[in-house]
Amino acid sequence: MRGRQNDRIVLTTYGRSSGFCVDPIEKKPLNHYLPGTPVLSFGTAGCNLTCRFCQNWDISKARQFDRLQDAASPEDIVEAAIATGSRSIAYTYNDPVIFLEYAVDVARVARRRGIKNVAVTAGYIDPAAREELYTFMDAANVDLKAFTEAFYNRLCTGHLGAVLETLEYLKNKTKVWFEITTLLIPGHNDSPEEVKKLSEWVMTRLGPDVPLHFTAFHPDYKMLDLPRTPAFTLTTARDIARKVGLLSSTPAMSMTSEAKARTARAAVSGSSAEIGMTSPLGGSQGTAAAVFAPPQSLACSRRTRATGGSGASRSGSADWNALE
Ligand code: SF4
Repeated sequence: MRGRQNDRIVLTTYGRSSGFCVDPIEKKPLNHYLPGTPVLSFGTAGCNLTCRFCQNWDISKARQFDRLQDAASPEDIVEAAIATGSRSIAYTYNDPVIFLEYAVDVARVARRRGIKNVAVTAGYIDPAAREELYTFMDAANVDLKAFTEAFYNRLCTGHLGAVLETLEYLKNKTKVWFEITTLLIPGHNDSPEEVKKLSEWVMTRLGPDVPLHFTAFHPDYKMLDLPRTPAFTLTTARDIARKVGLLSSTPAMSMTSEAKARTARAAVSGSSAEIGMTSPLGGSQGTAAAVFAPPQSLACSRRTRATGGSGASRSGSADWNALE
C-alpha cells in the first residue's frame, strides 16, 4: 500500500476507498459515543495483520487497486458526511493504521467542519504513528482479539503486547473515548480462563468504565471449518466480566431501546454481549438519542460480510440492505 515515487515513500491508496456506507454508530460497535446517530464509514485496502478469520479479507488482503473503486478527497468525504446527516466519520473496514496519512487528512478537515472522527482498529501500531493518528480521533473501537501471544502469533502474525500498549496509551495519554471488542472463536480464545484473564486486565489496567464487547464468530476466510459462536459462550463471557467487576463497579448506562433494536438488526449473523459503562458525554447524551433515519440518497457502496472495521470482529453484515 506504500511505494516509491520520486525517491519518496508514498501511500499509494491515498484518496481512494473500497467503499462508503452510512451506519448506526452502534454497529462499529460504539454504544456510548454519540448514541443513536449515523456515521459515515469508509476504508481502503490492505492490512498490517493477517488474521485467518478476517471477515473483510477481500479488502484487507487486496494488493491491487481493483478494490479501490471510489475516488474521494478529504473534502469530498467530509461533504458526504454532512450531506448524509452523519455526526462522525469512521475509518474502518480494514484499519486506519494502514492508511494513516489519508485518515489524518480527512480527520483534519472533519474537525474543522464539526464532524467527529472514529477509528475502528486492531490497535497494532508503532508508538510514533499512534500519537499522530489519535491526535485527530475522538473515539475508537479497538479489537482485543485474544489474551495470549500464541493466538496473535499463530492466527494474526502480530503481538498481543503492542495492542495492550495501545489500550493503555488511549487510557492514560489521551481523551479519546474507546470501547473494546473481542471476537470469541470456538476453541481458540473462548475458554472461561482466558476470558477471565482478559477481563481482569481490562479491569486493573483500564478500569471498570471501559465497555467491552464480546462478539460472535462466523466461519470465514481461512477458518471455514469452525462452528459459529454459540450465544451461551457470549453470555458466559459477559457474566465472567461482570464478576471481575467490569459492570458492578460502575453503574451501567443502558442503550436506548431504539439503539438496542438497531443493534439487534445489525447483528445479522451473530449476537453480541457487551459490558457497557458510562458515556463520556454525560447522562443526557446517552438518553437523548436521535432517531436514526438513514439518508436514502447515499447508496452504500460497501459490499462485505463484516459490519465494522478492522474487519474480523464485527459480526453481521455491512450490506446496506441488511440493515433495513
Ligand atoms: S481482522 Fe482486521 S486486523 Fe485482522 S486482517 Fe482483517 S482487517 Fe486486518
